[in-house]
Amino acid sequence: MRILVVEDDDNLAAQMTAQLKEAGYSVDHAPDGEEGHFLGDTEPYDAIILDLGLPVMDGATVLRKWRAEGRAMPVLILTARDTWGDKVDGLDAGADDYLTKPFVMEELLARLRALIRRSAGQASAQLVVGPVQLDTRNGRVTVNGSSIKLTAQEFKLLSYLMHHEGKVVSRTELTEHIYEQDFDRDSNTIEVFINRVRKKLDVPVIQTVRGLGYRLEWEDDTPRD
Ligand code: CA
Repeated sequence: MRILVVEDDDNLAAQMTAQLKEAGYSVDHAPDGEEGHFLGDTEPYDAIILDLGLPVMDGATVLRKWRAEGRAMPVLILTARDTWGDKVDGLDAGADDYLTKPFVMEELLARLRALIRRSAGQASAQLVVGPVQLDTRNGRVTVNGSSIKLTAQEFKLLSYLMHHEGKVVSRTELTEHIYEQDFDRDSNTIEVFINRVRKKLDVPVIQTVRGLGYRLEWEDDTPRD
């Protein structure tokens, strides 16, 4: 899952970026509204954290432009003051949720998880596909109840597939949602990661859809012996 942070306060941006990476997200940062708008318009983010008070272009304008351009990704706005006017303005501009500064990082992470989950059509924080479970609250992955250790990249890949259970996901889509903007992307490495994750899970939940990509699903009628 890939997040964009649009925030001009360097300290806060660094703090959010560190926490988000720790929680298993790929993170890009824009320090002003113009760059933020450009990135949100051109890169496929799973969610965006948008400060309202930004240089060059304010957050509400950025958000209105995205929505007018048909960008539907979930957006959480940060408001500097506890004034109802800012929140109403932001929500009317197309925000999905808001937080008032100062906030506790845990709350930001929880709201983000809920936004990403809802936009992917998942109701529960615990994603379950057959014997595979992924707890989005702590990043724990289990197969038939046993914990599986995944690297950061392997986790990002599995998390994206679990959020989009049953849908065909192309290599390009996976690449765009697990790597950060500056990363030297090579979609061939996706196959390597897929094979590692398959080996670690050791249950046939990741199907290859020839010429199209991958699909994560559990077929109950899979013959077993
Ligand atoms: Ca600001």
